[in-house]
Amino acid sequence: MRKFFLSVIISFCLLNLAAQSGNKKAFTLVIHGGAGTILKSTMTPEKEKAYNQGLEAALQAGYKVLNNGGKALDAVEASIKVLEDNPLFNAGKGSVFTNDGRNEMDAAIMDGSNLKAGAVAGVTTVKNPITAARAVMEKTEHVMLTGAGADKFAKQAGCIIVNPSYFFTEPRWKALQKAKLEDSLNTIKKNGLLKQPGNHDYKYGTVGAVAVDVYGNLAAATSTGGMTNKKFGRVGDAPIIGAGTYADNNTCAVSCTGWGEYFIRLIMAKSIADRVEFAHMNLTDAANEMVMKKLPALGGDGGLIAVDKQGNVAMPFCTEGMYRGYIKSTGEKVIKIYKE
Ligand code: ASP
Repeated sequence: MRKFFLSVIISFCLLNLAAQSGNKKAFTLVIHGGAGTILKSTMTPEKEKAYNQGLEAALQAGYKVLNNGGKALDAVEASIKVLEDNPLFNAGKGSVFTNDGRNEMDAAIMDGSNLKAGAVAGVTTVKNPITAARAVMEKTEHVMLTGAGADKFAKQAGCIIVNPSYFFTEPRWKALQKAKLEDSLNTIKKNGLLKQPGNHDYKYGTVGAVAVDVYGNLAAATSTGGMTNKKFGRVGDAPIIGAGTYADNNTCAVSCTGWGEYFIRLIMAKSIADRVEFAHMNLTDAANEMVMKKLPALGGDGGLIAVDKQGNVAMPFCTEGMYRGYIKSTGEKVIKIYKE
């Protein structure tokens, strides 16, 4: 009899352990490197390879964290830092130029387990703006710091500070000259009307990451140089919680890329979470409705990545392409640039 009970207890414990380790392994990481006019016809094989390698490196950085039992928050930060250090993407090192030839960067991070969030806007000296955003979340009572104050805070918080010249890249400088030329022609045509800040015809190269970790916690992070030729301290959607970035364990984690003004006006990321929570839509339907219907209907464009607690992934975009990819604990991995 004793033997019987003992074997029942041992089997129960083993089953429990197996179930736990099954759960333990379930995680998903999704990244984007911007949406926009990304056409195969204008891409060289070398360029395409470089983008794929950049996305792969970012996925691997976050995967390493999650596979070691790390937090979603650490994973999204790790992935974003890799993309920020890569000059191909419009964030950190590859940031676009403002109208007056500066690089002003925005970033945000959000922890879905407690709705804590941190953001910086218009920083010019922080090597990895996402680390400054995280420091705002963890070391202050605030959610967003801007401009010179944000740079000063980042330095005090121990973030790596660089000379603004670190952010200079030839392709982005040339893009600014082109945008300025087009702008001046447009201004003449439009008789002095103040246009949208930036030139939205250029591809959006913002970077983003969302993840669900083995504990079922969600996190989202977004980092960007904004839009080429932006003026007057313009800030886009990326650092605005609920617009370009949002995470809530109860619904989903979202990171956006596209024409920021429209994402702000649609409260894009939170609108998707609300559809999941209040309209009981699945993640794909919620994300598709916002990106494929509401966004173009208003005149905007772009895309986003989203993940929910179950590891469901959505990556809709209404542009020609979006640098994107995901990796799961099962080993399933996808990296894509163009439309299907
Ligand atoms: N959403 C960004 C902004 O408006 C641009 C981008 O996605 O590349 O600042």
